[in-house]
Amino acid sequence: MKVTDLLANSKGPIISLEILPPTKGKSIESIYSHLDPLMEFKPAFVNVTYHRAEQVMKKRADGSFVQVEIRKRPGTVSICAAIMNKYKVEAIPHLICGGFSKEETENALIDLNFLGVKNVLALRGDAAANEKFFTAHPHGHRFAEDLVKQVVDLNNGKYIEDDIIDGVKTDFCIGVAGYPEKHFESPNVDADLYYLKRKVDLGADYIVTQMFFNNAHYYNFVNRCRENGINVPILTGLKPLTNKKQMSIVPSIFNVEVPQDLYNEMMRSTSADAGDKIGEEWLYQQCKDLLANNAPVLHFYTLGKPMVIYNVLKRLF
Ligand code: FAD
Repeated sequence: MKVTDLLANSKGPIISLEILPPTKGKSIESIYSHLDPLMEFKPAFVNVTYHRAEQVMKKRADGSFVQVEIRKRPGTVSICAAIMNKYKVEAIPHLICGGFSKEETENALIDLNFLGVKNVLALRGDAAANEKFFTAHPHGHRFAEDLVKQVVDLNNGKYIEDDIIDGVKTDFCIGVAGYPEKHFESPNVDADLYYLKRKVDLGADYIVTQMFFNNAHYYNFVNRCRENGINVPILTGLKPLTNKKQMSIVPSIFNVEVPQDLYNEMMRSTSADAGDKIGEEWLYQQCKDLLANNAPVLHFYTLGKPMVIYNVLKRLF
C-alpha cells in the first residue's frame, strides 16, 4: 500500500522503521535480528537505505596501490523483497542520484515495480567519500527533484527511450527528504524550502525529515512548510543518541543541533548502559510530545540501537 493510503486509512499514529543494508560479506540475519523484536509494534513500512559505490585505494601484492570501486552496502532492492516476504509489511527503498545513470535508475524502478514495491524515497545522496562536493553521474541526476521527475515520468508510462510506446505505467508513491534545521549546503532556510516545494510540486507525495532532537525544530518546519504551500504529510525522523561520541559526530555529519540538556546528561554518563538509558528517555519524551501534537508518523532510524527503540515503543503503546 502507498504511504499516502496508509496515512489516510490509519486510525492512530503510524510507526515506521529505517534500516541500512548489512556491509558486504555480512548476513541478512543481522537485519532480521534488528527487525524481529520491533515487529511487535506493527510498523507500517520499513525503509531501506541506498549507498553509493566508493573509490578506495587497494594495496597490491607488489606494494603498489590501485583505485577500485566498492559498494560497501549492496542489496537494497533484494532486502526490500526479503522484508516484504518475511514480515508482510511495505518496504521502501531509497533511490539516490549519486553514482547512478538515469538508465540504471529506470532499470531499478522496473525491478521494484515487478516486485510489487509501491513507494520510493527519492534522494540526491551525499558527495562521494573522495569528493568535497556532490558530483552527478555524467548520465545521471544532479538534484533529487530530477529523480522525482523521472519517477513521475515512469508513473505516466514515459521511459527514457522514446520508442517505447504504450509502456507500462508504474504507480509509485514518492517520498523526499526535508530538513527542519536546513540542509547543510543551503544558503538559508527560505532557499531550502523553495527547493523542497519544487520537489513536492513536481510530484513528491510526502516528506521524511532529517533527524532532530528538539521537537521545536519539527514544529517550526511544519509551520514554515504550510505557510509556503507545502501541504503533504511530513514524517518525523527520530533516532536515539546513546553515547558521548555522537554528541560531536552527529551534528557534524547531519548538521543538526544536540540540545544542551541532552548533551550535559550524556557527557556525565559513565557507562554504555547509562548512555542507552539517557537516549531512551530523551527519545521517549520526544515521541510523547510528538504524539500529543498529532505527528502522523514516528519514523525511527534504527541503526545500531533497536532495543532502545523497542523500550521506547513499549512505554508508548
Ligand atoms: P536535494 O533535494 O537535491 O537538495 C540538496 C541541496 O541542493 C539542498 O541544499 C537544496 O536546497 C539544494 N537544491 C535542491 N534542488 C536544487 C536546484 N534545483 N538548484 C539548486 N539547489 C537545489 N543518503 C544516501 O546516500 N542514501 C540514503 O539512503 C539516504 N537516506 C536519507 C533519508 C532521509 C530521510 C534523509 C533526510 C536523508 C537521507 N540521505 C541519504 C542523505 C541525503 O542524500 C543527503 O542529505 C543529501 O545531501 C541531500 O539529499 P536531498 O535528497 O535532500 O537533495
